[in-house]
Amino acid sequence: MNSSSGTFGEDSSLYLLGSFRIFDNGAVFCDSAQTRGNFTLYNVTLIPGDGIGPSISEATQRIIASTGIAISWDVQEAGIPAIEKYKDPLPQQVIDSVARNKVALKGPLTTPVGTGFRSINVALRKEFDLFINLRPAKSFVGVKASFRDVDLIMFRENIEEFYSGIEHYIDAKKSAAETIGVVTRAGCERIVRAAFDYSRKHGRKKVTMVHKANILKFTGGIFLEVGKAVALEFPDIQCNDRIIDNMAMQLVLNPHQFDVIVTTNLFGDILSDLCSGLVGGLGLAPGANIGYEVALFEAVHGSAPDIAGQNLANPCAMALAGAMMLDHLGELGASSKIQRAIADVIKDGKFVTRDINPENYVGTIEMTTAIVRTIEKM
Ligand code: NAD
Repeated sequence: MNSSSGTFGEDSSLYLLGSFRIFDNGAVFCDSAQTRGNFTLYNVTLIPGDGIGPSISEATQRIIASTGIAISWDVQEAGIPAIEKYKDPLPQQVIDSVARNKVALKGPLTTPVGTGFRSINVALRKEFDLFINLRPAKSFVGVKASFRDVDLIMFRENIEEFYSGIEHYIDAKKSAAETIGVVTRAGCERIVRAAFDYSRKHGRKKVTMVHKANILKFTGGIFLEVGKAVALEFPDIQCNDRIIDNMAMQLVLNPHQFDVIVTTNLFGDILSDLCSGLVGGLGLAPGANIGYEVALFEAVHGSAPDIAGQNLANPCAMALAGAMMLDHLGELGASSKIQRAIADVIKDGKFVTRDINPENYVGTIEMTTAIVRTIEKM
């Protein structure tokens, strides 16, 4: 395990996530900053999203501002708010803004179930070739969860397979439907390589490749074959593979046997929510969508319509995504402060949201204030 292993909060000098950089070329973040002397102003696209999105986005802006990092937020509407305003769920100005800034922070966006427009989250990932979905799941002291000391990193392929959007009804009566999951050798190679590169760079010991190659012999087969070939280039990292159904059970029985997990799109989507559950729920799970040029940070969770507008949302997942973004921008000190402040506030337990303590809780705004005050004292 890397230097950040252990339950976060026991020693708040530890990073929660460590650095998660994958590419060394610097191209990913250099365009988004203007530096004068010691002062750097970052230009970042902010998509507040809908549901609980605007409230946790505002919370994250407050938390980042309290670290002293200066960000010029280019606020853009996508999804339902953009349909209401522009009659387009993904207006061109959103794409232009992300292309210009190369770094974005995004609140959750509702995707209609079964009908309606296609996922804007998926569209943004495809538009900017954000092929890595990196989702850490790490335990916090003070959170009721089935396990302590969980420290997992999920690499989910983010573009291909059943999220390619190739589907149709076979006839006008909609008597059957087909969804085509396209898996390419190139796509498998770059996600597995990213997982191994990350493991080597960050002192991780083992990569587990998750698939269903016993049944999906072609798509799963390519993923496993290519993955095994890539693994040969990393003899210093242990490697094994698990069939998805067994993997789900093994994670629930004993997550400590795993370190870095790499898998295809749909399995990664499901397993990363499962991993969030292992550490106490979606309110604490951040994620990054990373490509060669652009990176977009967001919480793992969705727009949570059941609690929207009630000051109940846990701001931590989005704020931790903000910390990942600062890490990506090279602002490691500020990133660490956010992570430590969140860990301290959760451990203290007096200012936590309902998902963390249903008996004794405060609202999104009050928890955010507690995190901001903790940062200001550091
Ligand atoms: P969800 O993640 O929104 O909510 C699942 C459960 O977790 C709900 O009970 C919710 O109240 C709770 N929850 C989620 N975030 C929380 C937080 N920060 N604090 C406290 N509790 C929290 O999943 P869903 O209900 O299946 O999806 C709702 C919508 O979000 C759907 O339209 C879906 O497509 C969309 N979605 C978007 C993204 C994204 O923008 N990346 C990701 C997942 C789902």
